[in-house]
Amino acid sequence: MKIIIIGAGIAGLAIAVRLASRGHEVHVFEANSYPGGKLSDFSLRSKSQPESFYRFDAGPSLFTMPQYVKELFDIACVPMSDYFSYIKTDVVCQYFWEDGTELTGYADSKKLEKEVENKLGINGKIITKALDKARYKYNIAGTIFLENSLHKIKTWLSWGVLKALVLMPTLDIFSTMNTTHEKILEKNPKLVQYFNRFATYNGSNPYKASGMLSMIPHFEHGIGSYYPAGGMSKITQAIYKVAQLKGVRFHFNTKVSALSFEPLSLSRPKPEAEKILNSKLQIQSSKLKITGIKTENGEKHKADAIVSNMDVYFTYKKLLPTLSHPEKTLNQERSTSALIFYWGIRKTFSQLHLHNIFFSDDYKKEFENLSRGTLCDDPTVYVNITSSLTSSDAPENCENWFVMVNAPSNSVQDWEELIVRTKKNIIEKLSRILKTDISDLIDAEEVLSPLGIESKTQSYAGALYGTSSNNRMSAFLRHANFTSQIKNLYFCGGSVHPGGGIPLCLLSAKIVDELVG
Ligand code: FAD
Repeated sequence: MKIIIIGAGIAGLAIAVRLASRGHEVHVFEANSYPGGKLSDFSLRSKSQPESFYRFDAGPSLFTMPQYVKELFDIACVPMSDYFSYIKTDVVCQYFWEDGTELTGYADSKKLEKEVENKLGINGKIITKALDKARYKYNIAGTIFLENSLHKIKTWLSWGVLKALVLMPTLDIFSTMNTTHEKILEKNPKLVQYFNRFATYNGSNPYKASGMLSMIPHFEHGIGSYYPAGGMSKITQAIYKVAQLKGVRFHFNTKVSALSFEPLSLSRPKPEAEKILNSKLQIQSSKLKITGIKTENGEKHKADAIVSNMDVYFTYKKLLPTLSHPEKTLNQERSTSALIFYWGIRKTFSQLHLHNIFFSDDYKKEFENLSRGTLCDDPTVYVNITSSLTSSDAPENCENWFVMVNAPSNSVQDWEELIVRTKKNIIEKLSRILKTDISDLIDAEEVLSPLGIESKTQSYAGALYGTSSNNRMSAFLRHANFTSQIKNLYFCGGSVHPGGGIPLCLLSAKIVDELVG
């Protein structure tokens, strides 16, 4: 088949590798001049040393579940070590609170137990209990619901799903994440905050999201937190390289503006006897069939199948304006977005690691503000420093700080005002906790707001992870990876099942690969 993929985000690149490896002719059309979508990088010139640069990963900074990247190399029969390598980090994250408490989030649970005992003065066993519970939930429900289409009968008839349904009452699906964590962690405020933060890994609110999501810590502490040699953008650069090796043709700077389709013809050559029943079912449920794309520069390209890696909201609104849209699915609450300050810092901080969190004093209030569409004055601040592992990412004696706070998705807020206010609040908070005036150290700066995220990657409202998981049933409410309205139109990426984040985007490509065949 000739298959067109719209968008070269990580899921678009992954499905390109998978389908080309099956022998299909694959073309990827990408609006930007580069592959990777949210997972790309850029550099800023140092003001103090104008011949030197700071390199930044533009979006994701945490790499979990590397096995899904490895799987792509295996499918393509390309040795991964030729293009991509990564290390497991011993410290998952360094945590800071305003009262001076510092906690090292060791990957090893025994070390973490000891750290919790030393720094928080409580029995460290409760952290192992919480991580065991996270692993239990992942083992029962994780792979089943994340690696399969929830919109195919076949999935629901599997033993794994039946087992998960029987054990549903033990998965805390109807409690909130916060209630679940309060129970497991004996209401220790710092540990509850530590575990509640995992809701933000898919842009959700721990006071609303289902307790089922308390499996997320298992991704980081159980399976591990990783760092790709050379930074996060090496993930998409490597998959792009494999796609090229498999003969995928890329069309950059080419925005797709419409999809073309035609009524599904009933006068096709007679199918073989065994396919008759199948084919009749498909004709009843799908009235149209995809035929190709039109691009903004006026070109038309035919295709037997199309996979859209652009946000599903805009796939319907911009490329299929004449069709009826699944409005209820499309208009679900968006995940959070982010306000990011990329700072070159003229100093090194030995107490900082690759991932660092400076917690808000009132986490609940922070999420109440996000729900109201604004930012509080004491946000939780995340600082990622890749130069702590890749020294060439910053000039000598300097660091590249990716400073991010959770932000509401865009709904016409005054972003200029919010940026000025939040920058001041972040500088004050970091200066207070690190006991150093940060404002004097900023040597290069770039800012990315939800507006910028929306315009750079066409993500509806600048959401980082498509729809939020704040509804207890959200896992079942995301758009499917196909539509029964148009035959041979498929969807992958963070806005559709199973959701956002690198591992889930890679899984969406795996599901589409099985659907296309
Ligand atoms: P996207 O990256 O959204 O790319 C879609 C592509 O489609 C874009 O390149 C766009 O230009 C193209 N496109 C859109 N419309 C058209 C069109 N009409 N024609 C042609 N091309 C089009 N995930 C993690 O796992 N760990 C993290 O630490 C993490 N942190 C994040 C931090 C930030 C600031 C952001 C923004 C995201 C973060 N994420 C993280 C989420 C993760 O980046 C995304 O879930 C994932 O990269 C989305 O990939 P995607 O395949 O859906 O496509």
